[in-house]
Amino acid sequence: MYVGVHPLAGFDKLLHYRVPEALAAEVEVGSLVRVPILRTLRLGLVAEIGAPKNFPLEKLKLVAQVVYPFPALTPELLELARWMAAYYAAPLDGVIEGMIPVAVRRGMALKQEKLLSVAARLAPAERALLAKKAPQQARLYAFLEPQFKPQPKGLVLARLAVGPAAAMALVRRGVLREETRRVERIGFAEAGAEDELVAAQRLALNAEQQAAVDALAADAAKPGFGVTLLHGVTGSGKTEVYLRAIEAALQAGDGVIYLVPEVALTPQTVARLRARLAALTPAHRCVVWHSHLSEGERLDGWFALASGEARVVVGARSAVFAPVQKLGLIVVDEEHEPAYKQDETPRYHGRDVAVMRAKLAQARCLLGSATPSLESYVNATSGRYRLLSLPNRVDGRQLPTIEIVDMRIEITRQRGFSALSRLLVDAMQDRHAKREQTILFINRRGYSSSMLCKSCGHVESCTHCSIAMTYHRMDETLRCHLCGDQHPAPARCPACGAPDIRWRGLGTQRVEEAVRRVLPRAKLARLDADTMGRKNTFREILGDFRRGRIDILIGTQMIGKGLDFPNVTLVGLIDADLSMHVPDFRANERTFQLLVQVAGRAGRGDRAGEVVVQTFNPQAAPIQFSRQADYAGFAAMELEQRRAFRYPPSRHIIHHLLRGPNPEKLKFFSEQWAKAVAAAFGSRVEVRGPAPSAIEKIKDEYRWQLWYFTASVTKVIGELARLRAGFAWPDDIVQTLDVDPMSIM
Ligand code: ADP
Ligand code: ZN
Repeated sequence: MYVGVHPLAGFDKLLHYRVPEALAAEVEVGSLVRVPILRTLRLGLVAEIGAPKNFPLEKLKLVAQVVYPFPALTPELLELARWMAAYYAAPLDGVIEGMIPVAVRRGMALKQEKLLSVAARLAPAERALLAKKAPQQARLYAFLEPQFKPQPKGLVLARLAVGPAAAMALVRRGVLREETRRVERIGFAEAGAEDELVAAQRLALNAEQQAAVDALAADAAKPGFGVTLLHGVTGSGKTEVYLRAIEAALQAGDGVIYLVPEVALTPQTVARLRARLAALTPAHRCVVWHSHLSEGERLDGWFALASGEARVVVGARSAVFAPVQKLGLIVVDEEHEPAYKQDETPRYHGRDVAVMRAKLAQARCLLGSATPSLESYVNATSGRYRLLSLPNRVDGRQLPTIEIVDMRIEITRQRGFSALSRLLVDAMQDRHAKREQTILFINRRGYSSSMLCKSCGHVESCTHCSIAMTYHRMDETLRCHLCGDQHPAPARCPACGAPDIRWRGLGTQRVEEAVRRVLPRAKLARLDADTMGRKNTFREILGDFRRGRIDILIGTQMIGKGLDFPNVTLVGLIDADLSMHVPDFRANERTFQLLVQVAGRAGRGDRAGEVVVQTFNPQAAPIQFSRQADYAGFAAMELEQRRAFRYPPSRHIIHHLLRGPNPEKLKFFSEQWAKAVAAAFGSRVEVRGPAPSAIEKIKDEYRWQLWYFTASVTKVIGELARLRAGFAWPDDIVQTLDVDPMSIM
């Protein structure tokens, strides 16, 4: 038997080896092996079975070891790695490495413990003799004899103050049996607070949920690839639908991947899932997967899945690579979340990779959101995906009413800028009196250097690209970061002539101070980047809020994702505009999503919710459509815009970033390259740029960028690779390609 092996760690090619007879039974595609390379043994992945062409077979070296008796990558994961390498322009060995945890690649040992139990009972006379001649052995025997289960050796010996020699003597005589057992380290094992277990009950489905569950159950009966988009308004009970689909897949004997954005992966999510699936699979068999696990936890989780002992994994982005066997279903919750995009090589999108993996595994993919990405929505309306809708909240609860506050009027009324409008202050005081809770969101996605007129709300944007111009302090210009167009920063508003130009930015601390002034007695808590860093503080604050020990929670919108607090009846969005004026063609989509999602946190209990949105642009489309909770209307308008400016989803974008220490040189080569690439592509690919990046310089490195607009990514990536190889780049210019970028700055 001969195999082609991908060595990990820096060799981007396939090497062939012969498999010794004794190992042949354990080797298959995806097996992790050790092979000799340059006199050392290296870890590698079996990528194909078969002899090499044009190579003398007798010269092939032998595979030295098979690391695990099962494949480290399922066949579809290997295929997926190849697809990712081609699509995201990333080296294959790096992609494969990203799929296999470090601990596995290093060959870290599984944790084991020794157990003792009684193998043969002693007659009373023998016991008496033992007690006289060897009291330690007698103590040990006396302890173990009545036990039903084998006991951990180390613990027992320590507790009884018995030496290892005594245990050994009894094992030799055949009185005790010693065995070795694998110990599993379990991520989020501590999860499962009492109040969460209530949520583990199976809920009686309402008619809309039932229809969705039935449609999904029909899938489970006939295997094969298919994608469903579950578009359900906030509080419509999407989670229950996911859980039913997961149960059905497990009952059919399939494996399941459940992806959530990193911020939503709380111990509560895990506890709920485990409790619900406990009837089907022992609780710990639901493996948790995210970037903060210890190496041991990750290794054990990986092992449980790869060996087929566990069949469900719940996790953030990278869980899409978990070695789930016989994969039948991938659920992607909050599929619109930009957090699914990885911002380092390989720059993959977790949702898109999930769809591709499902396709390769002939599995089903279920995408869910209250505000689907326009990419997924277009796929669903064009019939490539199936669309299922939950248009109403459960139990006939109302979507909250959204009130828009025009901050331009507010400013004149309050004679100066205040973070809190009169309406919001009144509403907060009202809730506080009624002992109901409030969440205030500060929009931090924003970019602080766009220009806003305080009088008319005008934001200067590029005539060619329909995105906001960015203020560059260095030379006092406004520039477009897509096409490079620029003009001097105006001293007066170009629309109304007023001199009241404002550069944006409002922190959580400032808002907290403002709230303290109007509600000195309320208990406040702040959740932002500082508190997010400390893991326990974050959990404690959310726990206190749930138990009603906090009246008003102030934070960035990121923390609000998916939170379900029944006593919250008021949500305030302090500054709706920030995300609208980032220089990004997705600015409107993000703003709409943000508004709908934060509004969705209000009124999830028995009482109706109210949302107050503060803005300088009350007429802006995302604000008006979100007020009506009109997703379809927003999508129709926004898609028309995207088509007009030929942005995704009508085409794909590839972002090309060039970095270097010398600005003139970087500009020169960026321009030369742009000419070369435009000439080579002709009209097949639209090249925009080069232009300096929004952040022109990071750590003394200058940044320029280009954009390629295309319908066919893989083809263009291949051509770009050839063109780049043939271009005379100076050594000090570093480049990255980002396919389907989530942020275009
Ligand atoms: P979504 O993810 O769609 O915003 P959730 O799945 O978080 O909504 O559900 C919102 C709330 O409704 C949760 O508290 C959930 O327990 C509850 N819920 C879901 N389905 C039902 C149902 N069929 N009957 C009663 N309550 C339900
Ligand atoms: Zn432009």
